[in-house]
Amino acid sequence: MTTMKALVCRECGKEYPTKAIHVCEMCFGPLEVKYSYEEIKKNISRKKIQDGPHSIWRYADLLPVEGPAFLGPHAGMTPLVRAKNLGAHLGLDELYIKNDTVNHPTLSFKDRVVAVAITRARELGFETIACASTGNLANSVAAHAAEAGMRCYVFIPGDLEAAKVLGNLIYKPNVVEIEGNYDDVNRLCSEIAGEHGWAFVNINIRPYYAEGSKTLAFETVEQLGWRTPDQVVIPMASGSLLTKIWKGLHEMKYVGLIDEVRTKINGAQAEGCSPISTAFKAGRDFFKPVKPKTIAKSLAIGNPADGYYALKATAESKGSMDMVTDDEVVDGIKLLAQTEGIFAETAGGVTIGVLQKLVKNGTIKKGDLTVAYITGNGLKTQEAVIDAVGRPVRIQPSLVAFEKTFKMGKNGGGEHD
Ligand SMILES: *Cc1c(COP(=O)(O)O)cnc(C)c1O
Repeated sequence: MTTMKALVCRECGKEYPTKAIHVCEMCFGPLEVKYSYEEIKKNISRKKIQDGPHSIWRYADLLPVEGPAFLGPHAGMTPLVRAKNLGAHLGLDELYIKNDTVNHPTLSFKDRVVAVAITRARELGFETIACASTGNLANSVAAHAAEAGMRCYVFIPGDLEAAKVLGNLIYKPNVVEIEGNYDDVNRLCSEIAGEHGWAFVNINIRPYYAEGSKTLAFETVEQLGWRTPDQVVIPMASGSLLTKIWKGLHEMKYVGLIDEVRTKINGAQAEGCSPISTAFKAGRDFFKPVKPKTIAKSLAIGNPADGYYALKATAESKGSMDMVTDDEVVDGIKLLAQTEGIFAETAGGVTIGVLQKLVKNGTIKKGDLTVAYITGNGLKTQEAVIDAVGRPVRIQPSLVAFEKTFKMGKNGGGEHD
């Protein structure tokens, strides 16, 4: 049974059948999935969710699929880590890290959206799966396509990190590297999608794909014992994840899982690509496209498709946005690793850097129940930190050399220089 009612234009409200379309033919606004919350409300409960599968599919009633999950039986339900050390360092009493660095199978939050997108694409009869990616999306699409035995094309910018390129090739999809940035990749892919009838997960399947991000809101609330956070900090590329966390929180209220949403939404970008945060800080409700130049490549979208809606959601929530320099991104990665033992990619450094700024300027307060979304794994962006972590101490394989290096006394202990 599906709870999807229609696709609906976010601008003019015109409704469409739940097919592979993403733009309103009347006003060119983006389409999103509409559900019948009254129907869902009759059928959903905290208990039903808790008795469901240990994955994003425990929230299937609020996901845009008609049948059973085709893919992604292990996506989601990542740890919500009580970050006591980082909280103490920042001066926060109750800080949590939603740790999607360990999402299955490709170590980023994209495994959520891809599981939903490919399941829906199969329901719509597609045999070839494709995407325009800043890196993590391609990795996830390639891995899921391999598992599903589907034909696959992933399109990536020409300057991706080595591990993200390898993280495509290993699954043997068609990997197309474009001489240009993500915005060039996306423009080309929109043309290809129109020509070839493939399922581009973030273009013609985008209304379904984007819904997968809501599971980050659902899981957080469930893992907090059905409490909503006071503050969340969310990294932004296209801005889709941020808007869907906002939508997901409200859906939980519409279907009776929680009573109210008081969460303030805070968006995070890197200075070298901060069209959305810059607009927010200038008090504008529209952004100006930029040419990205930052080590946070997973977030390097200069013309963000959901930028306008991210600004709107943040304003509605009375939240905030900010940006950090590349040096602050590196510091953020190191701080999270050295306080909580979690090695995040550059997007995580952006989130931690902005969290730190928002605490310092009083936007996030000591007593606020705060959740920081850490969306990708540091082993994929080693280039960003390789020169910032020093080198191992190298010694001859002898006890003398070891004790000399660490200035060991008879009682043990000691530090090397
Ligand atoms: C894609 C991505 C995001 C955010 O993507 P949106 O386009 O804003 O939904 C955040 N973090 C990482 C690591 C990503 O790969």
